Amino acid sequence: MKFRDYYEILGIARNASEKEIKTAFRRLARKYHPDLHTGEEKKKAEEKFKELNEANEVLSDPEKRKKYDQLGADWQQGMDFTPPPGYGEVHFDDRNMGGFSDFFQTIFGGMGGGFRSQRTRPTWPQPGNDIEADIQLTLEEAYQGGKRVIRLSSSEVCSSCLGTGMKGKNLCPSCGGQGFMVKPKEIEVRIPPGAREGSRLRLKGQGESGLRGGQSGSLFLRIRIVPHPVFSLSGNDITIETPVYPWEAAIGTKIDVPTLDKEVTVKIPPESQEGQKLRLKGKGFPGKGGGRGDQYIKLKIINPSKIDKKERRLFEQMAKIHHDDPRKSLFSGRR
Ligand SMILES: [Zn+2]
Repeated sequence: MKFRDYYEILGIARNASEKEIKTAFRRLARKYHPDLHTGEEKKKAEEKFKELNEANEVLSDPEKRKKYDQLGADWQQGMDFTPPPGYGEVHFDDRNMGGFSDFFQTIFGGMGGGFRSQRTRPTWPQPGNDIEADIQLTLEEAYQGGKRVIRLSSSEVCSSCLGTGMKGKNLCPSCGGQGFMVKPKEIEVRIPPGAREGSRLRLKGQGESGLRGGQSGSLFLRIRIVPHPVFSLSGNDITIETPVYPWEAAIGTKIDVPTLDKEVTVKIPPESQEGQKLRLKGKGFPGKGGGRGDQYIKLKIINPSKIDKKERRLFEQMAKIHHDDPRKSLFSGRR
């Protein structure tokens, strides 16, 4: 086990006052706060931050400081350390102090007092949890992608104590010792074009805040596509039920229909039937591995809700023409 020189860690003299300790800790905690660093630097900062917390835990507590000072001034940072007789008998209780060094645990493992409030509030960095939430998109939004502002409440590292939860020996008054504060937050989300139902967007660092310099969790947004009044999506294919008049279906015509991109003109062939599907190739929803599904125009033959005299005469003429019985199939085998 290596000796830890807490005075050296905080860069202060052995006779430093309480105020000097506090000031030194704050200055260094701010400098090495892991949230202020990235990549390799972040890891180093995390280590350093832990070390600072440990040093502060000891030196800001008169009882612990006294016990530490009893080890004498001859020890130096990093020296091989063997606990003096008596220290070996220290028993560990059920408190999880895994974030502090073996050295710390050997010297202070059995000490009460200062640890009272630590049971549920460890002083070493704690990573934040991931958060999952739904984000509802229209089919067009999912197709086009784009930016979307969402509101959520998030816990953020307390700017007063930098997430340590402590102000010197006392609980931080700003956050009540939690190390974070809950704030409403707006974040802009970039939705990729072709976002799929049920897929998740990961926003790193937008989850729950870490405590005492621990990394923040991720926010996972699950895409929910709300039902569309016109387009119905099945797999990558889109079906659009399209009303046509009987004569349009009978003699054929050209109609305009919407697609996800723009209106297109579709030719309805003569003698089209109810429920018949016309395919617009590649006008569906984007597929997972590129390409697009198809859009289907499903014909629905409707009559005018009111017919005037002229129309009535024309239908009467139609009725005089002989047609096959359209209901023949209803009586198959009986007639
Ligand atoms: Zn605070």
